[in-house]
Amino acid sequence: MLALEQKILNEGTVLEGHVLKVGSFLNQQLDVDFLVEMGKEIDRIYKNDGFTKLLTVESSGIAVAVAAGTVMHLPVVFAKKNKTSNVSGEIYSAMVHSYTHNTDYKIVVSKDYLSKDDKIVIIDDFLANGKALEGLIDIVNQAGATLVGATCAIEKGFQGGGDRLREQGIRVESLAIIDEMSPEGITFRK
Ligand code: 5GP
Repeated sequence: MLALEQKILNEGTVLEGHVLKVGSFLNQQLDVDFLVEMGKEIDRIYKNDGFTKLLTVESSGIAVAVAAGTVMHLPVVFAKKNKTSNVSGEIYSAMVHSYTHNTDYKIVVSKDYLSKDDKIVIIDDFLANGKALEGLIDIVNQAGATLVGATCAIEKGFQGGGDRLREQGIRVESLAIIDEMSPEGITFRK
């Protein structure tokens, strides 16, 4: 998505440890009109695939998923982090290693909101090593639901998580893929 690449170049900052900061539109302040444009792009990618629900993980994935859900008029389910106590009833859960915080956390979804009849597209803000997506895929599999694909707004291709998932046959369609990134510049995959 060229407009996203341009926005990353205009507003993104490359921090230590291969972290890209995009707080002006995605990770702290939300550019709602731009989020809707991302939602339209996600609709364009999957509109012929007959899926029923979007699945994401709190917190930054929610904004992208809600934008896509608004465009497609589909419900959004978000996995909660480390909050088994306020998710009542039976749950699906998976452990995820956090790239940005270097800790492990549990993600939890109530069994009320995912079932074997669902066809799921997973959404997140960033894809780095693929651990968040792996946890969400684990939950889709526990539910016996069908995974249609996964879309992250920004994939850091040089960290390999997206390509590892593609090698396993999972459809991963990120909106912008960064192949190289340093304070001097950012190169996108063509
Ligand atoms: P992964 O699980 O693929 O290694 O990392 C993805 C998760 O880590 C995303 O949900 C995102 O919250 C966070 N993340 C990874 N890399 C970055 C980054 O460069 N910038 C920001 N803002 N978040 C990141």
